[in-house]
Amino acid sequence: MTAGALSGPRLLLRRFREIMRSADAPEARLTQVVRLIAATMVAEVCSVYLMRADGDLELFETEGLRREAIGKTRLAAGRGMVGHVAERGTALRTRDAQGHPAFEYRPETGEERYSSFLGVPIQHAGRVVGVLVVQNVRARDYTDDELEALETVAMGFAEMIGSGILVTPEALAETVRASSRPTRIAGRSLAEGVAVGRAVLQAPRIQVTHTIADDIGEESDRLEAAITDVQSQIDEMLAQPALASGESRAVMEAFRMFAHDPGWQRRMREGVQSGLTAEAAVKRAYDQTRARFREIADPYLRARLADMEDLANRLINRLSAGVGFVGRDLPDEVVLVARDMGPAELLDFDQSRLKAVVLEEGAVGSHMSIVARALDIPVVGGCEGAIDRIDQGDLIIVDGEHGQAFVRPDADVLEAFRDLQAVRQQVRDRQSKLRDMPAITRDGVTIELLCNAGLLLDMRHLEETGADGVGLFRTELHFMVRSRLPRVQEQTRYYSNILDAAGHRPVVFRTLDVGGDKLLPYMKREPEENPALGWRAVRISLDHAGLFRMQLRALLAASTGRELNVMFPMVADVAEFKAARGLLQREIDWATRQGRPLPDRIRVGVMLEVPALVWRLPALLPLVDFVSVGSNDLMQFMYAVDRGSPRVSGRYDPLSPAFLSTLRRICRQCTANSTDFTLCGEMASSPLDAMVLIGLGFRRLSMRPKAIGAVKEMLLSLDVGALSAEIDRLMEFNDSSLRPAFEAWAGEHGVAI
Ligand code: PEP
Ligand code: MG
Repeated sequence: MTAGALSGPRLLLRRFREIMRSADAPEARLTQVVRLIAATMVAEVCSVYLMRADGDLELFETEGLRREAIGKTRLAAGRGMVGHVAERGTALRTRDAQGHPAFEYRPETGEERYSSFLGVPIQHAGRVVGVLVVQNVRARDYTDDELEALETVAMGFAEMIGSGILVTPEALAETVRASSRPTRIAGRSLAEGVAVGRAVLQAPRIQVTHTIADDIGEESDRLEAAITDVQSQIDEMLAQPALASGESRAVMEAFRMFAHDPGWQRRMREGVQSGLTAEAAVKRAYDQTRARFREIADPYLRARLADMEDLANRLINRLSAGVGFVGRDLPDEVVLVARDMGPAELLDFDQSRLKAVVLEEGAVGSHMSIVARALDIPVVGGCEGAIDRIDQGDLIIVDGEHGQAFVRPDADVLEAFRDLQAVRQQVRDRQSKLRDMPAITRDGVTIELLCNAGLLLDMRHLEETGADGVGLFRTELHFMVRSRLPRVQEQTRYYSNILDAAGHRPVVFRTLDVGGDKLLPYMKREPEENPALGWRAVRISLDHAGLFRMQLRALLAASTGRELNVMFPMVADVAEFKAARGLLQREIDWATRQGRPLPDRIRVGVMLEVPALVWRLPALLPLVDFVSVGSNDLMQFMYAVDRGSPRVSGRYDPLSPAFLSTLRRICRQCTANSTDFTLCGEMASSPLDAMVLIGLGFRRLSMRPKAIGAVKEMLLSLDVGALSAEIDRLMEFNDSSLRPAFEAWAGEHGVAI
């Protein structure tokens, strides 16, 4: 931006401030402001629309449109260009308004004469409360500077609204207040678990009450001081012993890099130079980035936006002398409600109070969700309009099992929920007493119960649950939470920490399973129509042998003097397994040549996830030390059902003839070949499904840590011999789901499912 171009916005702001300070009546000031905007921007029209309690936008003041339309022209949210701006919360500019898909003709305004349109949202307390618009008769392109000037004035408007100048406080409260009725908000589960607490809304934190600077030099000093302070705050967080290693540190390091980003700092400084207060400059820099990111679906970039919001919040909190949401009155049991959030915010929050999180956005694979799952904090994402529908302090039940939140629940709903929670707690207490009992069935069959893990934080579950080891360690999470590829040394340290945490218990490392919905920010990829069937997992590892060998080298180095168990994901044919195994051998040979110590024992396995490989077991089994059935993907590919699509993912039951006979085939062939076999998909976490798996011949199951207690309770009451004798008959019971038949069998035989 040139120095000359800055003068437009700066001039407008100075005049705006003068008008606001005048002693004129509020209505007169508003009229002067719209005239000022129209004149400065050489526009025929400048109008203010405000949102009414019913969500309609009403023409409140105008320079240029017919005055009789004031109070009369109303647009429902999302209708017309004005509704479009309000709904999306971002600016809209076009030289050909009537050619725009959102254009809606309102005869009472006389709008048909105008070609160009520039509209910006007026936001108060994180919600759109109005729209500020300029229009021109001739087709013209509004410049970035003009857009910026209008956005800045819109922030000033928000300030006027907040102080009751534009609308009465009652009308405003009516507009932005969420309904006080009980509401259920449906979303999707990002982290399991159920909790209840009081809402703490994050959005109001990015609330700027003072927009226009009195003294640019002073604001500039405040901004610089705040940036320095927040940067050292982040350095201090990084120095915490809890963040000494592991993924939380990686997340925070990425965050620190972001805090030092020169582009973001430059945008804030420019804001101050154009006449904004430091807070307003922070907010505007954030809003601009948010507007740019809005259309981007890339989960990595969206996660970065959450990081930026976190950073903007920190700066604004610091600038408003620490008046943030983490106030003294924080409830004991907090449900955080936000549009989206970064992992740092989660880690930074008082863990003893934080019970659950509700997000308007959020993604299963986001860093925040990954960390929340490791911390056992239920999260429901995709809750549309949550910020508008939830008020500060509202009681909320967060059901991370079913992806829903009950806001202001009725007394009886709350009571029913509390009863349910009490029952769950009793069950958990009962099951945790089984922790040290050997997992042996009633008829003396020992079952190995392992847990799935993906973070260093997960390793504590081994001790808590008494699991026999880690049956599936998803190594990709370590790669996903970083902003660059971890080097061999870094990976070695990480795997070594994992093995240390496991102690004498075995850990099965699965090599990188990226692609599909698991994206690495630093890896280039082409968009694919069916990513689950696309370039992922071992396919990427084989195509990027350098990357794969780095991982294998680190796994070998981390396991020196101990056992290395490693398996390859998504292998579709025997040649692929051989190729992956061959690269491992090259690394072993390299280490030997270098005189490096090797693991005491190396066991190499494969995941059975692609149906084609099941048909190649006779050729495959002699080559492998073990197989692990990935029932999530195997189910997805056998039934042609996208596991990520809520509409179809539950449509077919793993307990159905086709799937069970495939599993039976695997059990029989592995047994005949004396090859170890495990199942490590979601199926193993359900006591009934686990019962059936044991009946089919599985003796080793790897599951979510939380499921271990329930599965152990089930198997202690199971007579495997009785089930195996009947399983073939039970599998003929139905053409579709066999669940009812197995449930009935469990009931008749006293199995605790
Ligand atoms: C599976 O597919 O069953 C599996 C365990 O792997 P993931 O869920 O990580 O794809
Ligand atoms: Mg899989």
